Amino acid sequence: MHVLVINSGSSSIKYRLYEMEHETPRITGTVERIGEPNSYSTFTRRSTDGTSEEHSKPLPIANHAAGLQEVLACLANTQPPGLMDSLYAIGHRVVHGGESYQAPAIIDKDVISTIRETIPLAPLHNPANLAGIEAMQRLYPHIPQVAVFDTAFFQTLPAHAYRYAVPNELYQRYQVRRYGFHGISHCYAARQAAGHLQKPLASLRLITLHLGNGASAAAIDNGIAIDTSMGMTPLEGLIMGSRCGDLDPSLPFYLAKHLGMQLGEIEALLNHDSGMKGLCGANDMREVHRMANQGDKQAQLALAMYCYRIGKYIGAYHTVLGGLDALVFTAGVGANDSNVRQSVCARLDVLGIEFDAQRNLDNINGVFEISKASSKVKVVVVPGNEELEIARQTADLVAQNAAI
Ligand code: ADP
Repeated sequence: MHVLVINSGSSSIKYRLYEMEHETPRITGTVERIGEPNSYSTFTRRSTDGTSEEHSKPLPIANHAAGLQEVLACLANTQPPGLMDSLYAIGHRVVHGGESYQAPAIIDKDVISTIRETIPLAPLHNPANLAGIEAMQRLYPHIPQVAVFDTAFFQTLPAHAYRYAVPNELYQRYQVRRYGFHGISHCYAARQAAGHLQKPLASLRLITLHLGNGASAAAIDNGIAIDTSMGMTPLEGLIMGSRCGDLDPSLPFYLAKHLGMQLGEIEALLNHDSGMKGLCGANDMREVHRMANQGDKQAQLALAMYCYRIGKYIGAYHTVLGGLDALVFTAGVGANDSNVRQSVCARLDVLGIEFDAQRNLDNINGVFEISKASSKVKVVVVPGNEELEIARQTADLVAQNAAI
């Protein structure tokens, strides 16, 4: 049984074909930098005997329609012939489901309308997600398709966590509230960590840290998300690669009044030129470390601010959860950056975390623990895999539906 996962993002399309029995990716592909002069397509095919074959080609890919055409061409030429015949379902990552979806949904006309109505809340992402859905519907009209929402995992937040202290009407008429993002990743990390700890997720108080180019923290109480750091948009919360995270809401007024900046310029500044990039000129954490190690003071300060902000959220979520069983690191920085993990954990002995500096350096390909065996609170590293989570949720939902 095969499940195809499509993650049609704002500037890239990622796709994976999973053989679900062993959760093996048979095809992994990306179309990157859509709309830029240096766009390209990569495609890896793994055979059942474990051998793999890679293709990479630079291509002018002007827009999503052209990108999806490239994906369809790669899938159509899939070897061995017939691999796509056993396609059980297609799962799509959809960034914003508004307040309508707490769980994945089988895609029908209503789901498509809701994704379309939610475009004002995710103007870059939802149109790209819809383009992916519509392309796959044209190619595989008889295969069930599932929308897995990045916001759904956080629909369990209580009102006292998701409301902003602004007039009620803004929430009631204009959906102004916190939604949270990276839900698929936080959900995957929490489940994997619980599996590693051999405890039911429903018995654990977890703080999960998705530290990638975007970054967010979540408080998960017995498997239910009760708070998260991203808000109405992904701009709120932790310091990220190029996003500022939390700041005084008056800052845009100051920039407009005193620097004469337009709204669009401020939006671009806070989303694309702030965070680590704004602080030290680099948004890739490997480069930030290289600069810091060479004595660059701005890079050193940026790293200190990045870890300090994470620590503040951990402290807050510890209180919100009434204690903690495990802290979980995931995504590009979380899974690979032992320096960031060490700096974050350096302050946490007060919470009952006994950090194991040696284990932290182990280069393990999979889930591993970086707290001492005696630590009351465990610290777990989970390599990110949103695509697998989407495939699992897709297969489960289609199977449940078939059983009805
Ligand atoms: P995204 O948030 O775009 O989905 P990822 O979760 O893949 O991305 O994270 C990408 C980021 O992870 C990179 O920008 C880089 O900062 C960081 N990263 C990746 N590998 C390493 C590494 N070995 N050490 C430190 N940081 C890393």
